[in-house]
Amino acid sequence: MITFVQKLNMQKIEHIGIAVKDLDESNQLFEKLLGRPHYKIEEVLSENVRTSFFRTGQSKIELVEATNDQSAIAKYIQKYGEGVHHIAFAVTDIRKEMERLKMEGFRILNEEPKRGADNKLVCFVHPKSANGVLVELCQEITE
Ligand code: ZN
Repeated sequence: MITFVQKLNMQKIEHIGIAVKDLDESNQLFEKLLGRPHYKIEEVLSENVRTSFFRTGQSKIELVEATNDQSAIAKYIQKYGEGVHHIAFAVTDIRKEMERLKMEGFRILNEEPKRGADNKLVCFVHPKSANGVLVELCQEITE
């Protein structure tokens, strides 16, 4: 049974993550595609990735490049090639949302929210429990 939350916690699509082999090359490509430059590049050491962000209206595009072979992105590209990797939703209370999704039977990939790129607390929902879509929840860090 679906339990609808009283106050909507899951907000807009915050960004779409795209796995790329070469961040610098892809930055140039997406600059042409979107007609604007990326606004930041950030390395996330804990995830072994380098990311860049483009603003696209209310949402963003995040390009993600592996920085070594241990990265989930390296494994992803090896298996599927480059392309759409995850969809990230902005949430107002990530812990509450993780709890709700667990109750609904989704498999959450990390027990605790972790620090992601672009000043966010993040967690991931396993694609096997979400029609093959890797879902990221992200909450803006305000402090
Ligand atoms: Zn992301």
